This record gives sequence, C-alpha cells and structure tokens, in this order.
Amino acid sequence: MSEKTYEQLLESAYATIPEKVSGSGERFEIPKFDYFTEGTKTIIKNFSVVCEKIRRDKSILMKFLSKELAVPLEEQGERLILQRKITGDIINKKLEEFVNRFVICKECKKPDTHIQELGHGMKQLICEACGARNAIR
Ligand SMILES: [Zn+2]
Repeated sequence: MSEKTYEQLLESAYATIPEKVSGSGERFEIPKFDYFTEGTKTIIKNFSVVCEKIRRDKSILMKFLSKELAVPLEEQGERLILQRKITGDIINKKLEEFVNRFVICKECKKPDTHIQELGHGMKQLICEACGARNAIR
C-alpha cells in the first residue's frame, strides 16, 4: 500500500504542469496588417511584408482570408485589395488565427516551421526547431 501524503500529491501535480515560458523570453510577435478602407474596398498595404515575416505563400493566406471573411480578394503589387469594406480589427484577428494555426509550432511555440503537402488536400506543419509534425485542418 503506497499512500502518498497530501504534500507529495501536490508536488507531483505541480511537476506535471508544463512551464508557461520556455525561459529565453524570446517571443515571436505576430505581425499586423496595415490597412485602410476606400469606398467599398479594404486595402491591406503591407500584405507582402506580412507574408515574408510569417514565411508563408501569399496564396495560402489569401485563400484563408477569402474564406474566413467571405470576401473576394485581389492582389495588387505589395497590396491586397478586399472587395468589401471591413471595419473593426477583424482582419488582424484573422491574421492572428492564421499564424496560430499555420505558422506557430504547437509543441514549442516557435514560428520556425514550414508546411508540407501530403496530397489529397492534406497538409502538415513541420517545425524546424523541435521537429514536431502536426496535421493542419
Ligand atoms: Zn517546434
């Protein structure tokens, strides 16, 4: 019979809680879209820059935004034109969601990842920092 004291139980419970901050204090900052509305359109000025920062193809982010915001898009040089006036900060909320789903590693929370196509529309996120592989839905 191995009865643990309350203290021992408490201690083991604490031991299983992962540390929130990994120590380095270095955190990836999710970039923000710089945009304005013009008539019935919303124009993202730094679309190319954001894609470079998060190291993702423009096409993937465009597809995501078009679907999530239910709006037709058009690429225009560095800019992305959304064919609808979008108010509030929903565009940046969606960008954040995209980064969390398609850029940040689920295991180590680092953004050093790339997407691998598995065929049949299946993709996985591969982390270059810790080697984790996570299916993307
Ligand atoms: Zn990782």
